[in-house]
This record gives sequence, structure tokens and C-alpha cells, in this order.
Amino acid sequence: MYKVVLIPGDGIGPEVAEATRKIVGATGVEIDWLVVEAGTAVLDKTGELIPQSVFDAIEAHRVVLKGPITTPIGGGFKSINVLLRQKYELYANMRPVTSYPEIGKYSEVDLVIFRENTEDLYAGREVRVSEDEVHGIKVITRQASENIVRAAFEYSKRKKRQKVCAVHKANIMKMADGLFLEASRNVAADYPDIEYSEVIVDNMCMQLVMYPEKFDVVVTENLYGDILSDLAAGLVGGLGLIPSANIGKDCAIFEAVHGSAPDIAGKGIANPIALTLSAAMMLDYLGETTAASRVRTAVYRVLKAGIELTPDLGGKGTTKKLTGVVIDAL
Ligand code: NAD
Repeated sequence: MYKVVLIPGDGIGPEVAEATRKIVGATGVEIDWLVVEAGTAVLDKTGELIPQSVFDAIEAHRVVLKGPITTPIGGGFKSINVLLRQKYELYANMRPVTSYPEIGKYSEVDLVIFRENTEDLYAGREVRVSEDEVHGIKVITRQASENIVRAAFEYSKRKKRQKVCAVHKANIMKMADGLFLEASRNVAADYPDIEYSEVIVDNMCMQLVMYPEKFDVVVTENLYGDILSDLAAGLVGGLGLIPSANIGKDCAIFEAVHGSAPDIAGKGIANPIALTLSAAMMLDYLGETTAASRVRTAVYRVLKAGIELTPDLGGKGTTKKLTGVVIDAL
């Protein structure tokens, strides 16, 4: 019996979290879910976006499945997601993006984006210099850069992936992105059997749209990784399909790439697949690799058959019905 912290989140979070829990339950892997609330739901009750009980649960169990959480714009609230990634040093954010038959605009995408998760412009170092001027400070360290690039190469070695591409803007940010590239090259030198390349981020956006099949493993800084993974999601059918894992030394948080989708929250039509595939990554992390593969295969079959797809995938299905057919496929 594994103990896993479940943060349902807000917006569509509780709907997709419930669906995912049922699908994981259907694999037969026994999980004792410790459900804790964070986000706007508790903010109204407690005045805090993330109560101490959430930190206590994470520290006790170290494995978390998390629904999306709305970040109020302005008002001095730091994003819970950024806070958790920094607090638990979840330096590696891994986002696999794969084409499914008959879905999305491209059929041969199979790439994995490794996004640095703890620093860059997301370090939250903003200074109001005057009424009319704010400085947002970009933090890049050799250690964090090496950590994420090594994570990308180690994954490539383990999964027999052929190529790693580092994405940067060192032509303009010569010092910050220059240091990221220097760290990338140093790490790449330890993996002579894996092809290493570098692409400037704006060019990468164009290349990903024109020839996404050319890319295998992509490693980049925090902001570029955030943007590129949403772009890549758009190539294969949208955010409803893309999972992610935030991995640190002794803690991991699994969550969909998408947000709380306030435009469809409560309508019963949210796509549960992104969080379900995140749970499959969690099962892998727990060593339950057979159950993880079964979940991925079930999702693949349902998408291929096009049964009960939710509206984001062009269907008329609901969260509940799509969940039901994934469980049947399992
Ligand atoms: P979003 O990802 O919530 O939604 C973007 C679009 O994709 C919307 O049209 C939405 O309906 C659609 N979409 C997203 N997930 C879907 C799903 N599972 N099924 C069907 N359609 C789906 O992005 P946003 O609107 O920019 O952000 C809303 C809030 O979520 C913001 O407060 C943002 O800060 C937060 N957010 C949280 C996380 C997280 O918790 N990890 C990640 C991203 C954004």
C-alpha cells in the first residue's frame, strides 16, 4: 500500500483528480490517498492558499499527485506551483509530448521536454525601482543548469533516446544563458553516445511548428520550458493530454501541464487524460511500471478509437464517460 498525497486543486482540478483516482484504482495498485486542500477553495476559508497541513503531508509522504491551482493575478500571492517547486527543490520538470492517432495536427511527435524548475525569471526576484520601473531579475546558476541537463541526459541514456537539444537565448543574454550553455556543454561531454545540439529559443518555436518530429529530448531553462511545452501541447491535441513530473532528490510532484481552466470548470467536460498520464508517471516513479504501461495503453486505445472524447479533443463526451471508457480499456 503506497501513501500518496492528493491535492485536488481548484477549477477543473477536483473533477480530473476524481477521475484519475478511479483510473489508478482500476489498475489494482493499492494507494492510500491523503487528500489535502490548497488553492482558492481554502483561500476563502483560511486566508491562505496553502495551509501548513499541506506542507506537513508532503514532508511525511514525499509523493504527490496534484490538480491545477489558480494563481490570483496581483494581490501579492506567489504561485503555489512555483513555491512548491522551490521549497522541495523539484529541479527537474519533465514533460513528455506524444502524438496520438487521429488527434492533433501532427502524427509523428515524440519528444520529452526537460524544464529547469527552480530559478530563471520565475525565482520571484522583482524589484520596484520607482513608480514607473520594475526590474525582474533572471537567476541562472551553474548547479541548477547542470542538474537539469544531467537529468535530460540520464533519462536519454535510460530510455535509449538518441538526441538532446539545449534551447537558449545566449546570443542576447550572453551571461545568463551563456552560463546555462556552458553548463550544458560540460554535461554533454560526459555522454559522447548521445547527439547534442543547441537551438535559439525563437528559432526553436518555428522549428517545433514546422518539423516537430526532428526533436527527441529538449532541455531548457524555466521560462522557455514553460512556453515551449504549451506550444508542443498544441501540436498534438492540446493541454488536456500532456502530463508532467516535478522531480527532486527525495520528493516528487506529478501534475498535468494545464491550469485550472476556469472557462470549463464545473461543466463536467474537463479532459482527465493529462492528469491520468501524470499518475502513470507517478506509478513508474513508485516502481509500478506494469500498471503505468497499462494506463498508457488504455489511454492510447481510447484515443485511437475516438470513444467518448471530451470537447477539447473534438468529441461530445464528458469527464465521467471518458473515465469510464479508459477503465473499460484497462
Ligand atoms: P489553462 O491551462 O487553465 O487553460 C487554457 C485553455 O486550455 C482553456 O481554454 C482551457 O479550457 C483548456 N484546458 C486546459 N486544461 C484542459 C483540460 N484538462 N480539458 C479540457 N480543456 C482544458 O490556462 P489558463 O487559463 O492560462 O490558466 C488558468 C489558471 O490556472 C491561472 O490561474 C494559472 O495561473 C493557473 N495554472 C496553474 C497551473 C498548475 O497548477 N500547475 C498550470 C498552469 C496554469
